[in-house]
Amino acid sequence: MAADLQLTEFLAMLVGVALDAGTDAATGAPQVIEILTAACDLADPAGYVTPHHVHRMWRVSRLASVLRPDSPTPDHFKAGLRAYDETLEELLGGGLPERGYRYVGPAELAAGAARSTLSGTRIASLADFASWAARQTPGEWAEPFTYVVGLDGRLRLAPRRSEHVACAGGAAVLGAGEITFVREAGRWAVGEVSNQSTGYCPDVTSWRAVARALDGIPLRRPTAFTHEVVFRRCPACAEHNIVREVDFVCVFCGGDLPEAWNVDGVVRSARP
Ligand SMILES: [Zn+2]
Repeated sequence: MAADLQLTEFLAMLVGVALDAGTDAATGAPQVIEILTAACDLADPAGYVTPHHVHRMWRVSRLASVLRPDSPTPDHFKAGLRAYDETLEELLGGGLPERGYRYVGPAELAAGAARSTLSGTRIASLADFASWAARQTPGEWAEPFTYVVGLDGRLRLAPRRSEHVACAGGAAVLGAGEITFVREAGRWAVGEVSNQSTGYCPDVTSWRAVARALDGIPLRRPTAFTHEVVFRRCPACAEHNIVREVDFVCVFCGGDLPEAWNVDGVVRSARP
């Protein structure tokens, strides 16, 4: 059985035992997510099966049939399942699938990234972060690090001034930019974080994926990008622009730039 199907069965079982024990969703759902996150890491270290993905599979493959009016499941149990479903959705993030970003920078950098084996270090836990941090020299901390959020939703870090496309191993991303870390009361936290990547030109809405990747480690973080970059492609001359001070005019040809992000088409994330 594929890992995602096994994990879907596992999630169904976890919610079932929580309901049998009378644990309400507000209390039980965060614990379910914690256990499911560990199980996802165990089953699929590459990180393509996420709790979000498993929740979606559970909802479609199991929950829909159990909640049908003609199913023999008692009403109070159905109500409990609905409450867990809603709380899991709220905690794991629902709504539209996240937008992925294709590399849109110079082709020679992408070719270099494809040849390089030095993609970013994947940071899925505090242990990953501590191990990565211990390998950085004092000089490395003076400047921001390059980061991407892969289509698996996980943070990847590379040394300062690395190309984002190299950090991502040439792949599409959910977010990209620069990041600094600080020590706060003996714990690591994010200092500054931006979506500054001219290779991927991510929209400011990529913050959601960045926040989720940081929360998944977990690292304390700001509530938004500390430096937001507004990227647009000029419809007239096709040049990539950085919009400054809400002046939506192409610096290359003077044409109008659209209000909505338009640098590349949508790439679906690994999440369903
Ligand atoms: Zn233009």
